[in-house]
Amino acid sequence: SIPLGYFGGLGAASKNGILFKGASYLDAITTINTVVMDKTGTVTHGVFNIQQIKPEELPEDEFMNYLIALEKQSTHPIAKAISSYNLKTDLYKATQVEEISGKGLKGTVNNKVVLAGNKELMKAHKIALPKDVETIVETVVFVAIDAQYAGLVVIADEVKEDAAKTISGLHNVGIQKIMMLSGDKNSITQKVASQLKIDAAKGGLLPEDKLQEVEILKKEVNTKVAFVGDGINDAPVLAASDVGIAMGGLGSDVAIETADVIIQTDQPSKISTAIKIGKSTRKIVW
Ligand code: ADP
Ligand code: MG
Repeated sequence: SIPLGYFGGLGAASKNGILFKGASYLDAITTINTVVMDKTGTVTHGVFNIQQIKPEELPEDEFMNYLIALEKQSTHPIAKAISSYNLKTDLYKATQVEEISGKGLKGTVNNKVVLAGNKELMKAHKIALPKDVETIVETVVFVAIDAQYAGLVVIADEVKEDAAKTISGLHNVGIQKIMMLSGDKNSITQKVASQLKIDAAKGGLLPEDKLQEVEILKKEVNTKVAFVGDGINDAPVLAASDVGIAMGGLGSDVAIETADVIIQTDQPSKISTAIKIGKSTRKIVW
């Protein structure tokens, strides 16, 4: 049977839009001293705006037709942003679309093989990129058509108003280390991390790299790790952490299913609220 105090804790959490999947996580969360978080959708809104469209040779509308046909088949936040672009004429439909985890998409559009994704995706397919793209800090979607570089789209996401409060809130409940891990490029990951005064950050990571980072942290003496994320790709690392926390606002079903704690709003500051509720529940129960 569950002691009465836990019901109070679960109730208080629920009033704050925090769902603990069981009373045991109210205890587990009090042991956390390290918080690792995802960037996109966790500290940023996960809603990207198109900043720049730069086709190599094709007319802009034709270029966007290839890209949008492909992105329409994906539910990734980047795909949603690109798909919302208003085309003058909607020409193509993509088939045989593959989602390449942490890298992008591949599919057939108008009988041509189209790739859309990051530098790693282009590298994996031996697509040579123009040199000047290295200077772009923002997130870039590269496009290749029939094994040739076809252009890029620059997109940008905004940091949540709640994000700065999140970091101070975590320090206030005694969290010693805060780290940000992202599949997005390293330049933008570092920029967001320093803006938020997060101690450590790594970008350009594949889902398995995030998992490895958390496994390494967990091996350190007296380190208990919570991972906070929202994406489909975050399920393995959510499962591996001592407490997995999913942002439910925009979060994927897989992340919500795998997590131990779900934050039902889009406020990452609720992570420290959850820890606080765990701690005060413990005082009542023990
Ligand atoms: P995050 O860790 O920020 O949630 P993901 O693992 O979901 O990132 O994706 C990592 C990177 O893979 C993205 O930043 C992007 O460069 C690329 N990518 C993923 N999905 C897509 C897509 N549908 N279109 C273009 N690029 C994509
Ligand atoms: Mg993600």
